[in-house]
Amino acid sequence: MADRNRAAAQTVVVLGGGIGGVATANRLRRRLGRRHRIVLVNRDPDFTFPASYLWVMSGQRRPNQVTRPLQALQRRGIDVVIGAVEAIDPANRTVTVEGRQITADHLVVSLGADNAADTVSGLKVAGETFATLEGAQRLGPAVRALTRGRVLIVTAAPLYRCPAAPYEATLLIDGMLRRNGVRGSVEIALHSAEPGPMAVAGANVSVAVIALLADRGIDYHPSHQITAAETGRADFADGQSEVFDLLVYMPPIRPPAVVAASPLASTGGWVDADRHTLATAFPGVYAIGDNTQLPLSIGKPLPRAGVFAHSQARVVADNIAATIQGRRAPASFDGHGGCFIDTGFGKAGYGSGDFYAEPSPKVSIRPPARRWHLAKVAFEYNVMWRLR
Ligand SMILES: Cc1cc2nc3c(=O)[nH]c(=O)nc-3n(C[C@H](O)[C@H](O)[C@H](O)COP(=O)(O)OP(=O)(O)OC[C@H]3O[C@@H](n4cnc5c(N)ncnc54)[C@H](O)[C@@H]3O)c2cc1C
Repeated sequence: MADRNRAAAQTVVVLGGGIGGVATANRLRRRLGRRHRIVLVNRDPDFTFPASYLWVMSGQRRPNQVTRPLQALQRRGIDVVIGAVEAIDPANRTVTVEGRQITADHLVVSLGADNAADTVSGLKVAGETFATLEGAQRLGPAVRALTRGRVLIVTAAPLYRCPAAPYEATLLIDGMLRRNGVRGSVEIALHSAEPGPMAVAGANVSVAVIALLADRGIDYHPSHQITAAETGRADFADGQSEVFDLLVYMPPIRPPAVVAASPLASTGGWVDADRHTLATAFPGVYAIGDNTQLPLSIGKPLPRAGVFAHSQARVVADNIAATIQGRRAPASFDGHGGCFIDTGFGKAGYGSGDFYAEPSPKVSIRPPARRWHLAKVAFEYNVMWRLR
């Protein structure tokens, strides 16, 4: 869109080249004339799509199908800086990237959440995770190698990225074992630190997911917090222990260290932002995605999910572009979103609704069907295509 008033050239800096950061930079580039500079900063040279790590585990994707070089954005007129953000000074909208300072007229912080598996003693050594690309690459062969025994799957804390992911992973692992013809001799138990699956979405969603697990003969234990693990044995907060042949975990998360150390940090080191505009307390500074803590009416935060980071990116990009172009900032994030839960065998369920509804989120869940699996593939395509 052409600038109406030929405003002075401005620089927008986007921190983080994950789902939220890439969507923000792409949309800004489409909204703003080329004389405005858009800079995207990311620690790693590649973008990877976490929602597809589960398909890497199950063998439905190769790692290179869910990975794209961020430098591809250069072709679209986005300046890509590869390096670790070491400091954020929101009052001056200045960031330090490997010793070099970059100052912005508008700053968007989308640095995600760090995995914190080290908060449970022995977990990283005794278990495998699907929450990183490398982990998913190791976990797939480990599941396929099983011919008998016991898979123990745990969520290692109530707070983690994507509330559906561990339940989805459990159903996909069940499908892998069934395809190998060994499910009859491999037991699967899922112990969650939280009181129920996707509980923020409401009791109806939890009940539906528990039914999916029960249909597959998966033993489910809610509110069972793992405290330590060693080869073949996991200990829980109530003093019980569980044995396993394969331990699979969803790691807890913590705010990125650079965010927690910055003046942006608020509740628990996360960023507080206006839940509709994603504006922080610092003028011209916005925060989106996993590094924010957005309150819901039930006292819990909005779940960390790529669909929300993606929607918030659109709102922030549109409002920054409007501000630069001297228009009213019209966009508002309304808390709507949905999450797929792939159940294997070409089907997925879909939980979606209004997470900002009062007095509690209004979310419904559709039973597993081919169309929701295809919709999940379309979401993946939509994100990856913008990095071609
Ligand atoms: C296994 C799994 C499955 C999932 N499935 C789904 C799903 O089906 N649907 C869904 O909606 N969501 C899903 N999610 C959640 C989704 O991936 C996240 O919510 C989403 O990626 C958040 O986007 P973001 O931009 O906030 O953070 P991210 O996508 O994590 O991006 C943050 C970026 O910042 C970079 N970074 C961090 N610190 C620094 C630093 N100091 N300097 C420079 N760069 C830095 C990181 O390298 C990363 O590239 C899943 C997550 C996992 C782990």
